[in-house]
Amino acid sequence: MALATKPRLTKEEDALRRAVFLAVSFAQAEISKVRVGAAVLAFNGMGERSIFTGCNVEISFSRVFHAENVALLNGHFCRFTKISSVAVTSDSKEKQKAAMCGCCRQDYMYLNPNCMIYIFNSNKSLRLKVKLIDSMAYPYAPKGKIV
Ligand SMILES: [Zn+2]
Repeated sequence: MALATKPRLTKEEDALRRAVFLAVSFAQAEISKVRVGAAVLAFNGMGERSIFTGCNVEISFSRVFHAENVALLNGHFCRFTKISSVAVTSDSKEKQKAAMCGCCRQDYMYLNPNCMIYIFNSNKSLRLKVKLIDSMAYPYAPKGKIV
């Protein structure tokens, strides 16, 4: 649900917000002209937590990487595969109305249907906070193979 009032962010949420706005500064969006950043809070097998960032990278019309997936793969590469939450922002008001694309949401569903999604407006205010499973009308979530 969209937020009508400005909620106070927890320390963790604020760390995600700071990370996602750093991430969006690296976006390469020559094709879509929409710069997107993502920050994932994840845990490894030792229970350590870390934030991994990603931005959209548009190499060609046939090779586009979404920020949410880049952040997820960054964490996965470092063996942080227990996803807790993901923050997303962009410089497009239209993109800010969406809680990630269907492909990215499905990838996160495989890892943690209870993952929290945070969408931030370009002015750094929280626009949307929703549990991933609650954003899926008819979820498909067998256990992922990469965990
Ligand atoms: Zn996506």
